[in-house]
Amino acid sequence: MLQRSVVAGRTAVFTESVIREMTRLAMEHGAINLAQGFPDFPAPEFVKRAAIAAIEADLNQYAITWGSPRLRRAIAEKTARHYGLSYDPETEITVTCGATEAMMASLLALVEPGDEVVVFEPFYENYVPDAAMSGAVPVFVPLRPPEYTFDPAELRSAFSRRTKAVIVNTPNNPCGRVFTRAELDVIASLCHEFDCLAVTDEIYEHIVFDGRRHVPLASLPGMRERTVAISGISKTFSVTGWRIGYVLAPAHLSAAIRKVHDFLTVGAPAPLQEAAAVAIEEADARGYYRELEAMYAANRDLLVEGLRAAGFRCHSPEGAYYVMADFSPLAFEGDDVAFARFLTEKVGVAPVPGSSFYRHGEFGRTSVRFTFSKSRATLEEAVGRLRRAFA
Ligand code: GLN
Repeated sequence: MLQRSVVAGRTAVFTESVIREMTRLAMEHGAINLAQGFPDFPAPEFVKRAAIAAIEADLNQYAITWGSPRLRRAIAEKTARHYGLSYDPETEITVTCGATEAMMASLLALVEPGDEVVVFEPFYENYVPDAAMSGAVPVFVPLRPPEYTFDPAELRSAFSRRTKAVIVNTPNNPCGRVFTRAELDVIASLCHEFDCLAVTDEIYEHIVFDGRRHVPLASLPGMRERTVAISGISKTFSVTGWRIGYVLAPAHLSAAIRKVHDFLTVGAPAPLQEAAAVAIEEADARGYYRELEAMYAANRDLLVEGLRAAGFRCHSPEGAYYVMADFSPLAFEGDDVAFARFLTEKVGVAPVPGSSFYRHGEFGRTSVRFTFSKSRATLEEAVGRLRRAFA
């Protein structure tokens, strides 16, 4: 018997993913999984064909650690075309195993133990374990419902000499907020004033509604040099299992991130990087992004209207593919965890308990998150079950 405690303390401050736990529970009970944000419909045919062709051409060995040259070039061209931002594929772009690895590698590379990192709350559940593993101390700033805006004074008071970075996720998971230019200006001016970095999670950059446009924080004056911008193809091309993400950052930051990435994972799957390059090269000409937005806007309306008809209170999301729904009007006796379990086991629709997106769980106690990254048929069936259960 091992006499001493062998589990590292850094693993004690976070739990397993609640999102993936809800997926397991959904499968166990045959419930519709509106918990984990991944599509249940096919990926685009032209992207799948490109992956098959890459394997048939025997692109089966390690790609260059930083990412295949063709993919890095495609990312650079797309970023310049869409946002007017230029990044050198040789030194400023790194392909990673999903945005998840991109975030972890960036924090490990740039944050010293004890440095503070500002995080908006509700937050995507990864940021807390990311901070814990890199030794960062998260400082939370609320985005207040129903609109999920922040108070500039409150944000300012979260910054100090100890702040190394602010994590900015827009369009936001879980609340669907898309920051306005004015909000981004506030964040940028604090980065300048406190001389700190911004690490942006822009994985939902192409899922924005009602004529809004995603504005990368790096495109604001003076921000490119202090921004580490993270995105990937998982959500945009409905291939969350391919694990292709990337980081754009000035060369001296990218050099550190690349070293961490190299020893964490060596690199992302080589044939899928080729397919990712084709996806990004061809998407604009195919009108793909517009179609994606229209499809998700319709899904959002279907789910939000269905939830309201069933009695939930929810704010219509501006982007990404999740909605936070307040279930207090339903007079359920129990907290968000009990409610999520009840919905999964008894109603046959699985959400994520709202408290998993908050440091202080009580803020999420009357809400659950649903994803609308599913086919219309799936969403219609889910909405029907909810209405029959509550309306
Ligand atoms: N980003 C997705 C979500 O929020 C998937 C989470 C995960 O399993 N990594 O549901």
